[in-house]
Amino acid sequence: MDLTVMLEYQDLDRQLMKLENSLLQSDAAREYAQCKATVTNAQEQVVKQNRDAGEMIKQMEALIAEYDALQKELAEMESAVPEVTDINGAEFFTRNIQKLINQLKNLSQEISKMSARIVELNQAHAATMATGKEAAKKLNAVKVKYDEERAKLMPEAQKLKAALAEIEKKCSEKFLEVYKRLRKQKKLPAIVPLQDGRSCGGCFMELAGDAIVKLNSEPFIECPDCGRILYKA
Ligand SMILES: [Zn+2]
Repeated sequence: MDLTVMLEYQDLDRQLMKLENSLLQSDAAREYAQCKATVTNAQEQVVKQNRDAGEMIKQMEALIAEYDALQKELAEMESAVPEVTDINGAEFFTRNIQKLINQLKNLSQEISKMSARIVELNQAHAATMATGKEAAKKLNAVKVKYDEERAKLMPEAQKLKAALAEIEKKCSEKFLEVYKRLRKQKKLPAIVPLQDGRSCGGCFMELAGDAIVKLNSEPFIECPDCGRILYKA
């Protein structure tokens, strides 16, 4: 393959990229990306909220079970009042009852705190769902606008793609492989001339003598530093 084919390929590809970029930078594309991010964010939030809710309900159930057990213990203790004559026993009894009552009070506080947290989480969940639904609705509308924008550029893009496909038939596999890799890495222009007979026109590194010699017999070499397709102008 010769140099003109390579450069023609790059030129057409550059036009295609310009077209793609103009779509990507359009208001519709930006709005679409924003809406999509909001929807994704809401979805992630909901997953987290559901997980938190499950965790909180488990903790709440454990607190209630503990509370019930203590209450049962208290009731049992109260039904076994010691003899009036047993002073030590009476003191021990009162202390234990008091201790249980305190424990119950603490637990009841924990339960109301947990219950407040669950209410809060429920409200946050409802708000997230509303935000997500709103954004999803807007996303549909924005997508219509984005598709319209895209459709406008389509004929030109199709034309360029067809022309590129035609030229690809004349390109070596090696060239296409290297070119497409560079495009992906956004090292553009991907095809650059040798400068001053010894430097890469892309990264400006000076080449070793054997690389320059190789360039005399090959249509192109890959720059040892940046990997760009290097040709002798
Ligand atoms: Zn280079």
